[in-house]
Amino acid sequence: MLRRLMLLFLAIFIYTEWGVLTHEREKFGIASGDPFVHEVALTFDDGPREHGMQELNAILTSYDVKATFFLVGKFADRYGRITRMLYDSGHEIANHSFTHPRLYRLWVEKIMREAERCDEVMESLGIPKTRFMRPPGGHFNMKIFNAMRRMNLKMGLWSLNTADYLGKSPEEIVRLVLSSVRAGDIILMHSGIENTVEALPKVIEGLKARGFNFVRLDELQSFGRI
Ligand SMILES: [Zn+2]
Repeated sequence: MLRRLMLLFLAIFIYTEWGVLTHEREKFGIASGDPFVHEVALTFDDGPREHGMQELNAILTSYDVKATFFLVGKFADRYGRITRMLYDSGHEIANHSFTHPRLYRLWVEKIMREAERCDEVMESLGIPKTRFMRPPGGHFNMKIFNAMRRMNLKMGLWSLNTADYLGKSPEEIVRLVLSSVRAGDIILMHSGIENTVEALPKVIEGLKARGFNFVRLDELQSFGRI
C-alpha cells in the first residue's frame, strides 16, 4: 500500500514537474522536433547578405527543399528584393532582430523594439508576421522570454550546429552534419558563407539518402504533440 502511494506521488510529481515544464517549453520555443519523426529543418541565420543568396536559394529550389531564414531586419530592409525572393520561393521568413545586438543585455522594451522593427520591415515587403524568433547567438534569459511572450513570438533554437561561421571547409560541414544528424534536428547554418553554399548539395543529398524529409520550422512536428 505504502509503495503504491509512493508511486502515485512520484507520478504526480513527475507530471507536475515535467509535464507542465514540457508544455511551457513548447509554448515558448523549440530546439528540436520529434525524435521519432524522420525529418529535419534547415535554418539559415544572419541574412540576407549581398552575395551568395541567389546560389543558396537556387540549390534549395533545385532539391525542392524549403528552409527557414532567420533574417536581420536592417539587412532585409537593405536587400528587400533578396528577402522577397526567399519568401516567394516558399521559405519561411523568421525574426533575428533588427540590428543583431546582444539581446540579453537589453531591457524588455528594447528587446521588443528590436523584434518589432524586424517585423515592420517584413510588413513593408508584404511578408506575413513571423511566428519564430531566434535571439542573436542563441543566448536568452528571462527578459527575452518575457519580451517574446508579450509579442506572441516563439523562440526557435537549434539542435545541430554546423559551426559554419568558424571557417570550416565544405567537407567538414558535410561530415559534421551527416555524422551527427538525428531525427527531428533543427540544423543551424548561416547566410553569406561560401563554404556553406558549397557544402549544401552534399548535405541535402546525404540527408535525402538517409530518408530525411525537409521541413520548415513551422512545419516541424514537436515531440508529444500532433
Ligand atoms: Zn545571428
